[in-house]
Amino acid sequence: MRARFRTSKLRVAIVGAGPAGFYTLDALLRAEIPLEVDLIDRLPTPFGLVRGGVAPDHQHTKAVSRAFEALLDRPEVRFWGDVELGRDIHLAELRGLYDAVVLAIGAPEDRPLGIEGEALEGVYGSGAFVGWYNGHPDWQHLDPPLDGAPAIVVGNGNVALDIARVLLKTPGEMAASDLSEPAAGRIAAHPPQSVTILGRRGPLEARFALAELRELGDLEVGPPAIVKSDELPTLPRDAGALADERESRRAERVLAVLRSYEETPVEAARLRFRFFTRPIAALGEERIRALRCQGTGFDEEGRLVDRGQPFDLRCGLLISAIGYSSEAVEDAPFDSPRGRFRAQGPRLEPGLYAAGWCLRGPSGVIGTNKHDGDAAAAAILAEVKPAAKPGRIGLHGILRGRQREWIDRAAWRAIDHRERAAATAPAPRRKLITYDELRTAAREAEQG
Ligand code: NAP
Repeated sequence: MRARFRTSKLRVAIVGAGPAGFYTLDALLRAEIPLEVDLIDRLPTPFGLVRGGVAPDHQHTKAVSRAFEALLDRPEVRFWGDVELGRDIHLAELRGLYDAVVLAIGAPEDRPLGIEGEALEGVYGSGAFVGWYNGHPDWQHLDPPLDGAPAIVVGNGNVALDIARVLLKTPGEMAASDLSEPAAGRIAAHPPQSVTILGRRGPLEARFALAELRELGDLEVGPPAIVKSDELPTLPRDAGALADERESRRAERVLAVLRSYEETPVEAARLRFRFFTRPIAALGEERIRALRCQGTGFDEEGRLVDRGQPFDLRCGLLISAIGYSSEAVEDAPFDSPRGRFRAQGPRLEPGLYAAGWCLRGPSGVIGTNKHDGDAAAAAILAEVKPAAKPGRIGLHGILRGRQREWIDRAAWRAIDHRERAAATAPAPRRKLITYDELRTAAREAEQG
């Protein structure tokens, strides 16, 4: 048996089959050296954020999964879905089995708002809420109260825009999406009468992408409105004060789009932007019924300060879209306050690497992870020599010994096929949304 290990293949385990994991895999394969790469994910399905995070109506962004899918066909590669680090296999074991281990586990934890009432029914982080409507099996218990009451989304990033859009688009506008069936039914039956996107700073500081902001002007429910306040009686005429030239150009463009929404009457608008407002408490007995807010503004030194008296905004749903943190993994150096791994470049320790949001923090688009994947692969190729380790034969043995079943490429393809066959055109797929459904579809494939 030992002789089988004594080849010069480099054996790498990548934990996390999302964009950072796939881009690392791609970069390793491009090196064209003798290689064995195992892609391990705790979910039964690959593609991470592309499947469970990217908005269901942004199928053009999800198209990257076709390129990822093709990598699964490479003979050097195996997919091990439904295999969880810390539950089914330990990091120390993986490090013993492979020449290098790459952690590409993303940033799945919602950052808390840290306000009173955050545990009320109807208050969710964006990771949980997006996971619910995207059919992520961890979030199907969420059961958010959707009964037409106004919704508030806290945060001025693209995730806030995604959520507002998905809550307000009509079933016709979502027909070509892969919004999960239960979420589609719930939202269509009782969409919020209004959605307010709340920013603690102003329009110049918003992190919206232009295309996403423009898209809101074309919604069937009508264009968004801008809520005026003492701090923001009109939108700024220009973004001139910004030091960074690129940022300044970007802010000018964001302003131009917001300006096109400035004349929309606020009362009639289903979607509203309210800047210079920070949440201070969620009010309610069991379920949220209002958000207590505080107006803000910049002082002469450019510091954000409170302005005026607190006020309440009625709502039945509050979603905070304020960023994410990663989760600590046994024995891997973790920077808890920053919620990401501690590393020198992509290397955490000799033989242990990281890529993507779990290393860099939750920013950038899907393609940004390509740089991370390239960097992790380059470091591995420069630093790690094949040491005739057991690799996937060892992983197979450990999982079998623990009587764990996993989902391989063929089983994932069966899930994929089942989802596509169940869709009603023009929807691309009808997602299986529970672990049971996913595992059953995979098992039936093996039996059939
Ligand atoms: P983000 O772009 O970092 O935005 C987070 C927002 O939350 C900021 O406006 C921030 O305001 C605000 N915030 C943070 N803490 C807060 C608090 N305690 N109270 C109130 N507001 C708070 O994050 P994201 O929207 O989660 O997106 C994550 C990454 O994914 C981003 O890079 C985004 O561009 C990307 N993404 C891209 C797309 C797309 O391209 N279509 C779609 C979705 C996501 P401050 O600026 O004041 O801190």
